Amino acid sequence: MEKKNAIYEGKAKILYATENPDQLICYYKDDATAGNGAKKGTIVDKGIMNNKITMFFFDLLAKEGISNHVIEVMDDRNVLIKKLDIVPLEVIIRNVAAGSLAKRLGLEEGTPMSMPVIELCYKNDDLGDPMVNRYHVLACKLASAEELDEIEAQALKINKIMVDYLKTKNIDLIDFKLEFGRDKDGKIILADEISPDNCRFWDSVTKEKLDKDRFRRDLGNVEDAYKEILKRLTGEVR
Ligand code: AMP
Repeated sequence: MEKKNAIYEGKAKILYATENPDQLICYYKDDATAGNGAKKGTIVDKGIMNNKITMFFFDLLAKEGISNHVIEVMDDRNVLIKKLDIVPLEVIIRNVAAGSLAKRLGLEEGTPMSMPVIELCYKNDDLGDPMVNRYHVLACKLASAEELDEIEAQALKINKIMVDYLKTKNIDLIDFKLEFGRDKDGKIILADEISPDNCRFWDSVTKEKLDKDRFRRDLGNVEDAYKEILKRLTGEVR
């Protein structure tokens, strides 16, 4: 499949059209941003590692009946994907208080939540991805009630599968962000990526951060954190 024009350039990925109107090519960049673009940098080979880590989780979830937008991995950085109508929501699932939740509720980072917490944000960079609730989503027609039910059910199922799996690799899944889209038949499908860019992974024993917070908070050893996650999941040493 040949790449045609870029139709969208995000902070970490570029989407290209192909000769098939129902298929796109997703290219993973090494660029990193934080604070909605306020801080910029690159993380060496991040695109390659995030592509592999995402495929690992997508395959794990597919075995449990969660379908995703991937058609075929083309190479280290390029993936052929189904063109979806993306639901303009960032779906955040939290098991432990960290980041903006810790700040908002005055909780110490690392405080376990007694049940998974789902947060919804309206995907809009100009507005800084504001948090919305079910009423906003329905009133603004961002998704239907049935779609939102399906998205939340899938998000909780994904969380359970990932938490249980990551425990066996000595990783705590603190929180993460998902995106979903509608396929041609209107079915809700998991899209975007699942990587250290949009998950908080802490070592279960040392509580060391193994994710993009190392970049956001200038903690150093950023590449090493991504490498460590890839190694624990796939055994691959980069
Ligand atoms: P926060 O609201 O900053 O505490 O983020 C909660 C979780 O969602 C963290 O795992 C973040 O990595 C992820 N997350 C939140 N917003 C975004 C975003 N715009 N892009 C990627 N990941 C995000």
